[in-house]
Amino acid sequence: MEENGPQEGNRRSLAKVEYAGSRLLVERVSDSLYKCPICGALFATPKDLVAHIIAHALGVTSNRKRAPERG
Ligand SMILES: [Zn+2]
Repeated sequence: MEENGPQEGNRRSLAKVEYAGSRLLVERVSDSLYKCPICGALFATPKDLVAHIIAHALGVTSNRKRAPERG
């Protein structure tokens, strides 16, 4: 196992994820798992993670009711 632990006490590695022109710094867990900084969900690919984060931004993942736009 490689140890890339620099200054932080916690074994935390950050990975730069780039998708659709957006660059994000996310926490990487284990070899190839990326952690959502918002809800902690794990994803195997940066693409999935970024799509998920975008969903957060759009409010898709939250179950809050928005003002209904009916008639
Ligand atoms: Zn999330």
